[in-house]
Amino acid sequence: MKPITEQMRYDAEHIWHPYTSASNPLPVFPVKRAEGCIIELEDGRKLIDGMSSWWSVIHGYNHPVLNEALKSQIDRFSHIMFGGLTHQPAIDLAKKLIDITPESLQWIFYSDSGSVAVEVAMKMALQYQVSKGNNKKVKFATIRNGYHGDTWHAMSVCDPVTGMHHIFKGSLPIHFFADRPKTRFGEKWDSSDIDSLAEIIKNHHEELAAIILEPIVQGAGGMWFYSSEYLKEVRNLCNKFEILLIADEIATGFGRTGKLFACEYANISPDIMCIGKAITGGYMSFAATLTTKNIAETISEGEAGVFMHGPTFMGNPLACSVANASIDLLINSNWKENIFRIEKILNTQLSECKSLIGVEDVRVLGAIGVVELSNPVNVAKIQKLFVDYGVWVRPFGKLVYLMPPFVITDDELYQLTDLVIKVLKIYMED
Ligand SMILES: *Cc1c(COP(=O)(O)O)cnc(C)c1O
Repeated sequence: MKPITEQMRYDAEHIWHPYTSASNPLPVFPVKRAEGCIIELEDGRKLIDGMSSWWSVIHGYNHPVLNEALKSQIDRFSHIMFGGLTHQPAIDLAKKLIDITPESLQWIFYSDSGSVAVEVAMKMALQYQVSKGNNKKVKFATIRNGYHGDTWHAMSVCDPVTGMHHIFKGSLPIHFFADRPKTRFGEKWDSSDIDSLAEIIKNHHEELAAIILEPIVQGAGGMWFYSSEYLKEVRNLCNKFEILLIADEIATGFGRTGKLFACEYANISPDIMCIGKAITGGYMSFAATLTTKNIAETISEGEAGVFMHGPTFMGNPLACSVANASIDLLINSNWKENIFRIEKILNTQLSECKSLIGVEDVRVLGAIGVVELSNPVNVAKIQKLFVDYGVWVRPFGKLVYLMPPFVITDDELYQLTDLVIKVLKIYMED
């Protein structure tokens, strides 16, 4: 093996990492292995994981049950085309997902990543409206500060400012953006919160195919937790104006918020739902889009006669197998108590941050803890501090946030939060 420094130079000179510059890349840290909630770097340093590799590794790294699910499927077949063929892992997974998601969702489309699941959802909404003869319903409305992925149409419904829509001006489709609901999750509902979206719907419902949003928790667009009453109001408006509701549960799904799916907080059922991230326990890139029997049938009775999508790696058997194992692990565990255990510790521990100078807000929901600062963080600087102190935390913008694997122990979580607070103090004083 070549020396680390040489390899790292190659990385810096040839490999793009998420949202980084080729001429001035942020530093990256080479990983040797990862186990449970511990990430071990090549230089032997061990970090407590506060990120679950972006919402996905809910059962921790290198999990024996998930490893076994993949190994046993590899010995049968790793991939097979889904056109004209099917397999047990895909069927088992469909049953499981249709069983645990809102009851009206009865049809499932497998894809390779969250962004693609969103593209698929948007295409479903359009094909449905066209099939109904609603040819003018070709636009989407969403909430500001949202995030739905980086592919073209997914990006078009991300927050226009943080999603840098101006760079793609002229070719990115223009949609409608409502103000972010101000009423926080669990707070008394301020009914004027719905006015912005209601106004858009009133004026443009004839052009609107669907509303797409992240239920309850807005993730990468700002880590904001909003009132379930908002979601109920949106559902009502959609019903009234024949607009479909797309719930993007890619980040919120599989227990992270304290419900299996965040829609449950509002007791609503979306017309289309996207899931991804934790679906395979963070083992493989995989996602799915679910919809109702009515929408699936309406699309199929339309002009195309089919739903126009079919990725090469659709329903990949390895991904389905590990997703089956991951969902079984989750459902058969005391996941709810576990999330509340994490929520409680995050609440107690992070509340100390409220008194720090430079901290704007602290909020916790389920296994998500957010410390919002007054100014954007210097990622390179704070990242190095976090690593030096033995934790893996990756802030963005003004947000330092924690969403550890569900299996994190009390000890690990206390250590993680203690160290995060320590680093924040050092960072602020500097
Ligand atoms: C991460 C994310 C996506 C995109 O998923 P990828 O797998 O990164 O393509 C879409 N929507 C939400 C809410 C997400 O958090």
